[in-house]
Amino acid sequence: MRRLTVPLGDRAYDVVVGRGVAGELPSLLPVTAKRAAVVTQDGIPGEVELPGFEVETFVIGRGEGAKSLDTIGTLMSGFAAMGLTRNDVVIGVGGGMVTDVAGFAASVWHRGVPVVHVSTSLLGMVDAAIGGKTGVNLPEGKNLVGAFWQPSGVLCDLDFLDTLPPREMRCGLGEMAKYHFLTGDDLLAMDLEQRVARCIEIKAEVVASDEREGGRRALLNYGHTFAHALEIATGHDLAHGEAVAIGLIYAAELGFEVGRIDAGRVAEHRAVIAGEYDLMTNPPPGLDADELVALMYRDKKALGSGLTFVLDGASGVEVVAGVDEAPVRAAMQRILT
Ligand code: NAD
Repeated sequence: MRRLTVPLGDRAYDVVVGRGVAGELPSLLPVTAKRAAVVTQDGIPGEVELPGFEVETFVIGRGEGAKSLDTIGTLMSGFAAMGLTRNDVVIGVGGGMVTDVAGFAASVWHRGVPVVHVSTSLLGMVDAAIGGKTGVNLPEGKNLVGAFWQPSGVLCDLDFLDTLPPREMRCGLGEMAKYHFLTGDDLLAMDLEQRVARCIEIKAEVVASDEREGGRRALLNYGHTFAHALEIATGHDLAHGEAVAIGLIYAAELGFEVGRIDAGRVAEHRAVIAGEYDLMTNPPPGLDADELVALMYRDKKALGSGLTFVLDGASGVEVVAGVDEAPVRAAMQRILT
């Protein structure tokens, strides 16, 4: 078992990683809590056992459609009915969708109550449960409504991954491939516990240096500008991690188009993603380039500076604003089928 810390001063918190660590949950809860509102989904393993606590469980829907303000409204009514106070705790038990929703619900209930995440998917453990970004989708776009709300603790019991469907494991690998390119670490050479812990360490370090994404934290969006557009254009047929893997290839192709990296580095992206990580490198056929470009103009990173991407280059991965449409379209032509 490993206990890591996300170093955020007086809001620092622990992340427990390992097999069979579910029993560590009470050590992550605020000492004042008497009631726990558990937010989860059907099919998620790991019943939360908290002797001495009044536990109410809220089962939310699956899929990005249920990551909505309607779901938040239902949770708010449930929290009111159980009398959840500021001293109590919300516990999100599930993948990234559940922890994003539970975190956002906790951030707005009584203007903010503690939340603890029990992450059950690989993507959740290495990314979504760490760093305090919470939120829900609107029909107009993903994660458009949200808050920065750090958890009080995160539990990553690797036993939960035994029931995770293979496609969801691949999604987690998509985010892991991102860390590969951010650091150059050979994560696949590590055992699972080490690998998950290393990804958490990388994310924790970036979050601690720029909690509210004023600069460096945006680097964690490597591959994500195109990925978010793909998720919307495919009506979420492509899952987030799958889209990120393709988005990393796109970012490499665009980096090449604008002269930041050479063909060898693009080939390296393809070799790592298709070869080592065994992930998809091309989007499904039939997507419309105009729609994808329009969606990328709406990306949250853009801040009115035209098309904005996180791109690799001689000094590593950086945010690049005001990218011309011509290279954006040329890079797209190389991966659209
Ligand atoms: P998910 O939460 O939708 O989970 C995928 C599916 O796996 C769901 O049906 C879920 O019920 C099921 N599942 C989860 N754990 C399981 C287990 N142990 N056994 C069996 N089934 C299990 O998807 P995800 O990939 O975990 O997360 C994606 C979400 O995370 C997206 O909404 C994305 O926007 C968000 N995200 C947030 C951040 C952040 O910083 N907050 C970062 C990355 C992604």
